[in-house]
Amino acid sequence: MRDRLNRARQRVMVFVMVIVWSLPVTAELSEIESRIAELARQQKEPAIALLEEVVNINSGTMNHAGVRAVGQVFERELAALGFETIWHDMQSVDRAGHLFADSGGEGFCQLLIGHLDTVFEASSPFQTFERSGDRATGPGVNDMKGGDVVMLFALKVLKSVGVLDEGRYVVALIGDEEKSGSPKSVSRGHLISAAEQCDVALGFEIATSLDAATIARRGSSGWFLTVEGTRAHSSNIFSEAVGSGAIFEAARILSAFHEELTGEPNLTFNPGVILGGTEVNYDRAQNRGETFGKTNVVASRAVVQGGLRTLTRAQELSARERMKRIVTQGNLPQTSAEITFSEGYPSMAPTAGNQALLEQLSQVSVDLGYGPVEAYDPGKRGAADVSFVADYVDAIDGIGAEGTGAHSLDESIDLGTLPMLIERAALLMYRLARSRGLH
Ligand SMILES: [Zn+2]
Repeated sequence: MRDRLNRARQRVMVFVMVIVWSLPVTAELSEIESRIAELARQQKEPAIALLEEVVNINSGTMNHAGVRAVGQVFERELAALGFETIWHDMQSVDRAGHLFADSGGEGFCQLLIGHLDTVFEASSPFQTFERSGDRATGPGVNDMKGGDVVMLFALKVLKSVGVLDEGRYVVALIGDEEKSGSPKSVSRGHLISAAEQCDVALGFEIATSLDAATIARRGSSGWFLTVEGTRAHSSNIFSEAVGSGAIFEAARILSAFHEELTGEPNLTFNPGVILGGTEVNYDRAQNRGETFGKTNVVASRAVVQGGLRTLTRAQELSARERMKRIVTQGNLPQTSAEITFSEGYPSMAPTAGNQALLEQLSQVSVDLGYGPVEAYDPGKRGAADVSFVADYVDAIDGIGAEGTGAHSLDESIDLGTLPMLIERAALLMYRLARSRGLH
């Protein structure tokens, strides 16, 4: 009896120990770390003031002057911290450009990623910062001028505490995240070369919640389907000479996509536009077109433009392969079809290195008295600039502002969370510079 009781007790102990081991245990903050935390908590009002200043400058992606003006504000702030700043003009791809800033030095290099532009162009009715208590609304307040401010104030705190020079920080504030210029080799060239020089990347895009961060994002790319059929009187459709027509063939292909590719985790694809008939004029850049057809004429042409989202490059290539096979094999009589794919945003795969970064962030959060941080479901996250660097460095994203309604006319930020987000970012950056920089 006593034996059995002991065994049961042992089992409970092992169970409890396993639980304790799998949770981050609070560690004492060092003296410097305590100063970082304390100073970060005092940044709320100055951070809000800077946020108001930049939100009140319209920087819709195509408002190039506005994007540059927001860049100048951050240039002023970063130069005051001793960063060397440079504006990379992007007129060659019809975009404003990017602000890059480098703290210099030889230490462990952290690439800090934000963006200057918003989806709200100068013509939008949504133009100003409005605060009511701890909630503020405004264009880009959450996506992602709030995150840019969190990043900047974390650097300010490290500077004030005198530890900024323990590592190297490269800030990349991109001017066309919401509508990126093409080709991406040009519009993201500087970002990629910065990643090649750095050791980790921290993305300050919207925090989906305070207890989650992003270590994987799906990539997004495009596909375009063109189907040809034989134009003839409809009374002869399905005959050997006329066959089934372009519209039936397009329908066969889309149904096969649906049947064979749905259900795979993290893979989605969406036909966004379809046009079919005997005369089809489609403008891919504008996503619009005109078509003409008659009910008594077999359609000779159909086009479909769609998008594809995948978690890894391998998944993207495999999906493309399967789509291609469907398009080119088993065509209905007297039809032919072709599919082409276009590059978009690459995917950010959930690597062990990204997971390790997340664990460091989680430990920081716990040590500061907040909860642990978990990986956000990549299936729910869109593409972002961090994806361009994820092949070169360990990366984490979604450590920026906390709010709601990004891209909507009701976009808001929870100002009350700013001190905590600055505190976490600053401590993470400090620890990364020390722990990883020492070997
Ligand atoms: Zn964004």
